[in-house]
Amino acid sequence: MLHLVRVTEPAFGIPEEMATTSDKRIINTVFRFRCFLFVMIFAGFINIGHSEQFIVEDGKTKAEIVLSTKPARAAEFGAQELQTYLEKISGTRVKIVSEPTADALVKIYVGESEHVKRLGITAKGLKRDAFKMVSGANWLALVGNDLEFEPREPWARQHNQWADEKQAEWEKLAGKPWMNPIGRSIYRDYNRQLDIWNFDHRGSLNAVYAFLRQLGVRWYMPGALGEVLPRTTSVALPQINRTVTPDWEVRSILRPLISSNELADALWYLRIGANNQYAVLHHGQRYVTEHPDQRKAHPEYYAMLANGKRDNSRKTASACLSSEGLFDEMVAFARLMFDHYEVPMVSVMPHDGFTHCQCDLCRDQATIQRGPSGISSDYVWEFVVRVANELAKTHPDRKVFCGAYSTYRLPPLKIHKLPDNVLVQITNGRPIRELDDDAHQAAASLRKQWRAKTNNPLSVTLNFSPFTHRGAWRPQYWPHVADRGMKASHGQTWREDLQISFEKGGLHHPGMSHLNPWVSSRLWWDVEQDVDVLLAEYYKLFYGPAAAEMKAFIKFSEKEYVRLGSNGELASHALELFDKAKAAAPSTSVYGKRIALVDEFLTIFRSRSKQMNVPRPEGLPEYRLIDMGKDKWRDVRDSLKMDGKLDEKFWTAYNYPRPLRHLRHLRTAAKPKDAAEFMGRWWKSSLYFGVRCEFDPDQPPVTGSRKHHDPAIWQGEHLELLIETDKHSYYQIVINPAGAVIDLDRSVTLKQGRAYEWSSQAEVATHVGNDFWSVEIRLPVTTSDEDPLHQIIGNQPFEAKAEARASGKGTSLPWYFNLFRKRSGTEEVETSSFSPLTEDAKSFHEPLRFGKIYVR
Ligand SMILES: [Zn+2]
Repeated sequence: MLHLVRVTEPAFGIPEEMATTSDKRIINTVFRFRCFLFVMIFAGFINIGHSEQFIVEDGKTKAEIVLSTKPARAAEFGAQELQTYLEKISGTRVKIVSEPTADALVKIYVGESEHVKRLGITAKGLKRDAFKMVSGANWLALVGNDLEFEPREPWARQHNQWADEKQAEWEKLAGKPWMNPIGRSIYRDYNRQLDIWNFDHRGSLNAVYAFLRQLGVRWYMPGALGEVLPRTTSVALPQINRTVTPDWEVRSILRPLISSNELADALWYLRIGANNQYAVLHHGQRYVTEHPDQRKAHPEYYAMLANGKRDNSRKTASACLSSEGLFDEMVAFARLMFDHYEVPMVSVMPHDGFTHCQCDLCRDQATIQRGPSGISSDYVWEFVVRVANELAKTHPDRKVFCGAYSTYRLPPLKIHKLPDNVLVQITNGRPIRELDDDAHQAAASLRKQWRAKTNNPLSVTLNFSPFTHRGAWRPQYWPHVADRGMKASHGQTWREDLQISFEKGGLHHPGMSHLNPWVSSRLWWDVEQDVDVLLAEYYKLFYGPAAAEMKAFIKFSEKEYVRLGSNGELASHALELFDKAKAAAPSTSVYGKRIALVDEFLTIFRSRSKQMNVPRPEGLPEYRLIDMGKDKWRDVRDSLKMDGKLDEKFWTAYNYPRPLRHLRHLRTAAKPKDAAEFMGRWWKSSLYFGVRCEFDPDQPPVTGSRKHHDPAIWQGEHLELLIETDKHSYYQIVINPAGAVIDLDRSVTLKQGRAYEWSSQAEVATHVGNDFWSVEIRLPVTTSDEDPLHQIIGNQPFEAKAEARASGKGTSLPWYFNLFRKRSGTEEVETSSFSPLTEDAKSFHEPLRFGKIYVR
């Protein structure tokens, strides 16, 4: 009997050398038992076989999909997906039945059922999401671990239902002013249309996807445009016997949501094999500390600030970890979560934007000598261990979860080994953007240090572009970074959590942002795969005639990512590579449409590239910050009392040659009517400014507002600090004589309030005298971009010595900055500045006019 495999669209073909490792494994299995049929289908060749069984043969269905009479959700949906895609591939519909019929020769069993059990196949012993693909003479079994999640009441079915109907029930249950981390938002982990919970185990569905992938189906990006389909009139029954267990148990991506309003998003999430952990993760302390009633009733639960006051006014206030009351509530909260919501683990991690409590019990627990990533390590982790030990008495099978993050990122020194009910998560536990060896080794070393502290595997979060679109204007392609980090961390981590920038329920700019989660997802399932083989197939199938050009663009963008934000030449080159790709594929083809989506994303990159290529004007002012870390300042550097007065030795000890720098008239650069001057210092990873503003006692400054973030601040007298670091362009900090502050990240749009999400965490003190007002400002600076929503991000600016610059051995790393004083609200509005603007400048916001600052 002759079987002809007709391939109507050869474009999908995958030559064997391009098949992924897992594909190859399958191919080899098939090869051993049969006559190359699969390889031939992949390769797009016509094959003459004999005695094979077919699922679809010459456009006619030969099979039926057999489900249990009571199928698990994952199996039932798996059967539908299989039916859908077999039809897309071959144009033929295969029936789904719960009782095998005599109509079809070949049976495809999806999910565990009474029928497949008769063949001796069960899901027994399979781990979460794992599956078997087994075939016989005339059957194929796709059977996996399918566990159905059941939510516990109270939980809200949609956003408003919590406050309207469920919250009261929760409050009664809790008996305390606690926020609810589960019931309030769990609807986001449920897709109503598909009736699928994110926490379900979906082994059988994953088996179906693996089989379809084996047939050549690819889901690179959400939606039809992201899909690559083979076309054939015949699909053979494979010879296979394989058990697949994902290399990571939990494979979480922040977006798209499984509950996205766009079904295509949810489907893509499922098809790439993502999932999530049912638990309380991320900043668990917030649920005990955030509620306004709690903050009012128990100020002693909250961190004491340097001014001696408890920080209970802010929703995101940090806790005092020495407070026994807080400890008791944290334990009670965890117990309620364990008992009522049956979560396997509860986070006891501090709230985001952590500040170390300055009360008598906490203050000295800071280990300043360990630097910004370790100041609070012993302090925070000792709290975690105390809570864990208490919980182990009642719930020995449950876990306590905490992140190694911000000032407690380094492992504690006093704790030799964490108890076994503590799970550690490392933020950016593998590099996310950096291909360089230093970043790779630093991450490996941190994981090693933590692994020495715990018997459990680690969890990692990867902030690709968290919650905002910050920094997301450069091309974002990091397949090799992911590959390298995952291969190095495989076996050490059980969970990866990709935080990806988003637009509503889906990916932000999916045309570009699909590649990182897609590559990660393939490696989550089989980390041994060769990423370049995966990519070669991707370029060919997804970009067709522009494959080579897109490869060149993506490769270059990944390699030069770090410098693309500051080096105009490299940015231009990246765009040239992209434009070649754009020219290589007709714009009306699917390939052209995919490239157009990338092009849309590149709009800001194009304008930034132009801006970078405009040389900074000559003759802009420079300012040298005094480095208080130098030994000669050792007696004065701790003298600063933040009172706005500028009278401490911290400021006054340096008086040569120009202790104060005068501001000049905004347009004319002349001396302003009301003099203003500033000083800058660098000390302990903070940038300090002292500013003194004189005024005529007859025209005292007008205070627009006393409240932070109140736009009325701009209506009165104020200072504007604009700061561009080596890593970020740029920050805006507005301060008025009352000490009210507005801080903004000007790299993102002012619309939708995104710029306001950033907090400088500035410490500001002002003083108003008879004929002047003055201010002391401390701006904490971090070199790590793991948390882009807090603090200024940048390396300490410095200027290389003249001889080093001349010999080419040293390069300076300046920051750029401007300072304005605006006498708004007075009769004669006068604005003075550090670096005056040109006559035609329309606003302050002229980064190219910023003066240089550096530490020498
Ligand atoms: Zn305290």
